[in-house]
Amino acid sequence: MRTPFVAGNWKMNTDRQSGLALARAIADAAPDGIDVGIAPPVIYLPLIQEAIGETLLLGAQNAFCEPHGAFTGEISVGMLRDVGCDFVLVGHSERRQIIAEPTDLLARKASAVYNAGLILLHCVGETLAEREADKTFSVIEQQLAELSPKMEDPARLVIAYEPVWAIGTGRNATDAQAQEVHAYIRSELSEEWNPDFAAAVRIIYGGSVKPENARGILSQPDVDGALVGGASLKAETFLSIVKSALPGQP
Ligand code: PEP
Repeated sequence: MRTPFVAGNWKMNTDRQSGLALARAIADAAPDGIDVGIAPPVIYLPLIQEAIGETLLLGAQNAFCEPHGAFTGEISVGMLRDVGCDFVLVGHSERRQIIAEPTDLLARKASAVYNAGLILLHCVGETLAEREADKTFSVIEQQLAELSPKMEDPARLVIAYEPVWAIGTGRNATDAQAQEVHAYIRSELSEEWNPDFAAAVRIIYGGSVKPENARGILSQPDVDGALVGGASLKAETFLSIVKSALPGQP
């Protein structure tokens, strides 16, 4: 049985005070039986780590692939681990598109995160043009190739399926669209790794998840949680989504 994983991606939002208040409110009310994570802006990680302790998983939205050296402005996975980070996002569509991070760099980042002993939260997903051109599965297959079959611990790999056309647009995938792609991802993992590994890996959905649509998406058999952007910036809406992911919800 896979433990659900729900993570909030705060992106470049909050400030010192509001971020701390948001983290505390989520930590105070997060239920047991589910992995709840938050990924605040990197500059607030140490402050928030001190405030929440071990109650939540703490994530970074990005990391560099080299351990140290002349890489101005970058932050290594070792530094993130040093300040108490548990997971790191790699391959978010905003970094693929706005920052233009290429697939070979993402593969190196993914390995660096995994090899540091952290949880790799690897994001994949097609654009609207790719979906309309019937390329959803081939795009996702290419993005999954950024991962290595040497990543053998299913507890430290979480794949987020985030259709780009659903991120921050208010337009979410239907329950059936999400399930179809999640099942495809699991079948690819089964082929590239093995069926036991594929059955144990968490595949979470991201793209305009809200309290109103969370239950339908999260109840799909291959959907193991959610990566939440906009709705993670309010404790109440985020916690409502977290509760929808708990096993046995009506
Ligand atoms: C995201 O950025 O990962 C995301 C899913 O954003 P939103 O929930 O706002 O669509």
